[in-house]
Formats: sequence, C-alpha cells, structure tokens
Amino acid sequence: AAESAALLQRRQAHFARPQKNYYAEPPQIERGWREFLVDVEGRTYLDMVNNVTILGHGHPRLAEAVHRQWQRLNTNSRFHYAAVAEFSERLAALAPDGLDTVFLVNSGSEANDLALRLAWAASDARNMLCLLEGYHGWSVASDAVSTSIADNPRALTTRPDWVHPVMSPNTYRGPFRGPGSTRDYVAAVAPVLEDLDAKGQGLAGFICECVYGNAGGIPLPPGYLQQVYAMVRARGGLCIADEVQVGYGRLGHHFWGFEQQQVVPDIITIAKGMGNGHPLGAVITTRAIADALEKEGYFFSSAGGSPVSCVVGMTVLDIMQDERLQENACVVGDHLKRRLEALGQRFPLVGAVHGMGLYLGLEFVRDRETLVPATEETAAICDRLLQLGVIMQPTGDYLNVLKIKPPLCLSRENADFFVDMLERVLSEGW
Ligand code: PMP
Repeated sequence: AAESAALLQRRQAHFARPQKNYYAEPPQIERGWREFLVDVEGRTYLDMVNNVTILGHGHPRLAEAVHRQWQRLNTNSRFHYAAVAEFSERLAALAPDGLDTVFLVNSGSEANDLALRLAWAASDARNMLCLLEGYHGWSVASDAVSTSIADNPRALTTRPDWVHPVMSPNTYRGPFRGPGSTRDYVAAVAPVLEDLDAKGQGLAGFICECVYGNAGGIPLPPGYLQQVYAMVRARGGLCIADEVQVGYGRLGHHFWGFEQQQVVPDIITIAKGMGNGHPLGAVITTRAIADALEKEGYFFSSAGGSPVSCVVGMTVLDIMQDERLQENACVVGDHLKRRLEALGQRFPLVGAVHGMGLYLGLEFVRDRETLVPATEETAAICDRLLQLGVIMQPTGDYLNVLKIKPPLCLSRENADFFVDMLERVLSEGW
C-alpha cells in the first residue's frame, strides 16, 4: 500500500492533473481478465464502468493478433497494404446502404472533428446544431459542440458562433416528460432554425447521440430524430450520428443507436469499443460527402488506418461475432435492467433506470416528484461499492447517475453480483 501511494505521488508530480483518476485513493491496477481487474495486492474488482473494453480485459486472441501484426508490419495509410482495404470494407458492410466510405482515425474526438469538417465541406455552410447535455470530445471542434456541464463546465460560456445548441430532449428531467413529449421537443428546435433562416444563414448540420450517453442512457423520444433530421435536411444540412459510445452492439437490441430512432444519418462516427482500448476511431459516410473534403486538399492521419489498428479492429469484430457479444449485451442487459428496476420498488433513492442492453444509467434522486439529484449520495455509494469489489462511477450533469457500461462479455452471474452489492449498500441506510 505504501508503494502504491508513492507511485500515486509520482503520477501527481509529472502527469497532468486535469487527466484525473477515478477515486481519491484508487487501487493500483495490475492486470485485467474479462470483466475483472486485479490490483497489486491481488484484490479482484468487477469493472462495471469501462465502456471501451467491450470484449473484456486481456483478451488473448486480440493480444496474439496485435503481436503478430506488429512483428510483420506497421506503417501508415499512404502505403498500400491489405488491412486498410479489408477493414474499411468490413466497416462499410456494417453501415446502412449508401454509407460505404470510411476514414480511419484514432479517437472519438478526432472522428467528430472530421465529421464536422465533412459537413462544412459538403454543405458549404458553417452553422451546426447540437443538443444540450451532449458530449462529443475534447478537441477544439468536438468540444465546441459539447454542452455537458459535468464534462465541460465552461463550454456554455465559450461557444463559437457557428454552434447552436437546442433543448435537450431529456424525457426524464426536461421541461417535457415522457414518451409523448416528441412534439414539444421538436417544436423547441424550430426557433433556432427560423433564426438562421431570418439571418439568411445556411446550415451545415446537426450532431447528436441517438441515446443520451452523458445523461445516463436516456433514449430520445420516439420519432424525434425523424422530424429533426427532416428539418435539418430541408435546409441542406447533414445529420451526424455520434455512435462512439452508444453504437457497436452495446445497446444489445441494435448494433447502432440510430436504429432505435428509425433514421439513417449521413455521417456516423465511432471509436472506443471498436478498438477495445487500442486508439481507433472512424467516420463512415457516403462517397460524395467524403469526396467533398478534396476541396480542402487531402486528409491524413499518421496512425489512423495503420496495419496494427486495422488488425485490432477486424479482430475485435471477429471476436464480437464468435462470442456473440451483442446478443449477450441484450440478454444480460435486459436481466440487469429488470433487477435494477426491482431495487426501485424498495429504495426511494432510485429515481429511474435508463437505457438498454449494457448501456444503463441508474439515476438517484432525493425526491421522485421534484427530481432533486442525489449527488453526494451517488459519490458515497460509488466509494462503498469499491470497498465491496465493484468499480462504478457517477455520470450526468448532476453526477447522480450510475454509469453502468461494463464489457459486453459480462456474465449474468456477475450482473447479479453487482446488483447484490448495490442492494447491500442501499440497505445500509440510503
Ligand atoms: N463522443 C462520445 C459520445 C463520447 O462518449 C466520447 C468519449 N467519452 C467521445 C465522443 C470522445 O471520444 P475520445 O475520448 O475517444 O476522444
């Protein structure tokens, strides 16, 4: 323990402070296996929060494939090699018809920056709509369209003039509640567009997640995106679906988040799970939109689309398929959601369980009528869960939502262990 504390001090001395740790006194993690992490003292933790390692930690087949590719070749996409063609083909095959062209980058932020640039180039306009309470990354443009107070408290005051946030269609906390609120939330978009029309300004596009990630996995109201996409496209704008967190099978019931809203975007961005922790991101769009970037010259990313990255991406897809991980997310996720909802019958602190598949958010409130967020309680519950061997963190603008986004290989038994531990903590007096 003393050595671990000394190491933490060394981290604090030379590693940037804004790149924060989970926990004030974090366990020092040494290795991982499936949905488990093991610390230097040999304690095992159930990782219920890491939404990047979708296959689970330490997957031997992925490690072997990377090792083999590193020994053979790693270079950049200006060279001609098989992996970049093969991986692009596979990503295009996963996307809806017509979205057949792929850019390969290294992160979700980069993918979203590139998506914005594509929309600017293809539309010859600059203005971009985004949703309040959204998060799209830390790079300059992706940050400009990010409005989540928890992730970026200053964003609301420092936004450039091309960004136009619209009311978040949050059916739990917003001014309009429930699945019948679609019309009111769509109506809230209209004045922003009318203002642009009145000024004679064009619209480049609209970026959003199709299930609200940072608000804890709240689905958009039914039909919302069909209507908003139509309004955006009527003005020549492009619709960007940020699938960095929600896409790639995590929802269980759908591979893509936009399927939930029965829409097809013009541009899809992905990252996180597609690399299982290896830096990997992509933009999938139409040939015409991709080609619009030629106006600005060419696009290049030093490591984006490298042979190693492509092999990681293809191996992740192979393993997902062979281990039927999307199906597991559906079955185990539904079971987990039912058990969490049952906790709500016993503990008034449980306001709601949002989301689907292994993309869930359990929201704690002090009062189910006024929805006062139970922020301090949520932090204390997460600390107590750590003592019981569960890694869990708060999310949401009020940090009162448990971010339940484990590896997609989570077993039913371990989902039960998580709920049992949560039940135990709640029984202790919340
Ligand atoms: N979009 C969404 C929805 C995200 O959740 C994140 C990461 N939390 C990003 C974009 C940014 O991805 P990255 O951290 O890989 O840059």
